[in-house]
Amino acid sequence: MRDLAALPKAHLHVHLESTVRADTLAELADLHGVDVRARTGRFGDFAEFAAHNGLVRDCLRRAEDFSRIAYEFCAEEAAQGTRYAEVTFTAAAHGERLGDPDMPLEAVLSGLAAGQAAHGIECRVIVDHPRKRSVERFETSLRLAAAHPEVVAIGMAGAEDHPLTPFAAVFRAAREAGVGLVHHAGECCGAASVREAVTVGLADRIGHGFRALEDPEVVALLRDRAIALEVCPSSNVALGLVESISSHPLPLLLDAGLTVTLSTDIPSSTGATLTGEYRLLRDELGLDDDTIATIATNAVDASFAPEDTKALLRQDIATWRAGS
Ligand SMILES: [Zn+2]
Repeated sequence: MRDLAALPKAHLHVHLESTVRADTLAELADLHGVDVRARTGRFGDFAEFAAHNGLVRDCLRRAEDFSRIAYEFCAEEAAQGTRYAEVTFTAAAHGERLGDPDMPLEAVLSGLAAGQAAHGIECRVIVDHPRKRSVERFETSLRLAAAHPEVVAIGMAGAEDHPLTPFAAVFRAAREAGVGLVHHAGECCGAASVREAVTVGLADRIGHGFRALEDPEVVALLRDRAIALEVCPSSNVALGLVESISSHPLPLLLDAGLTVTLSTDIPSSTGATLTGEYRLLRDELGLDDDTIATIATNAVDASFAPEDTKALLRQDIATWRAGS
């Protein structure tokens, strides 16, 4: 039986604020006087998760707070066999809250630089933007991304029923600036939100997207354009969007010929790890190791990693597959 911990992994959908270690959170909460502790398991609904997440974010105030969680993220990822990660960070929101647009991102990048050096992994950043927030703030996100080569993409998160059209000019500007576009869609809302993320949002990848299955035309759109989905089973169950892992539609996405990748999304809130998610593919969803290796390779192919990183990772995944 191949060791899933040793499978070389690319991790594409994970929110930095939802990776904070329990002891780090407790320390920062006490320091800054915020009444919050780590919690894992199912949330009543998305609003309950968002309220908890808001308290976690309030614990991040100083540059050293951001640098610390970024550094610790690298350590946690390395322990999962992650070789390359794109971590999502709501940089402009923290900047607005703290009255300094650049500090949070720069502190995260500094923590990631130290963490990468110490733990031998490679990281990039995706700056996300809640759809309910202003176009101006999304423009700030693009400015931050364009100013830092470590930021590979920007994208939409939050309420999927908020239209993307107001942001269309920023999507086009990102495309022209060579900044990638990765949007949450088809998680809380249906297939139409996935179509919108592709046609209006010019998405390179889709966060979640499993509800594309509700419309064969949207499935065909994703398949024809080879747009990868970042599928996060434990997150979907914890947020009540899918009843159980064993009933997760991930196998149906594969059957439909879609490009599936695997991520944790909010690991500190679910207790999930990336190796654990791969284990669920084998133990709960009955996928064989060839399919698991294909999913791992999909993540490499769909990433914004440099070509030499991709080539090495593909080779190492092939070596894992060839083993036993
Ligand atoms: Zn997410």
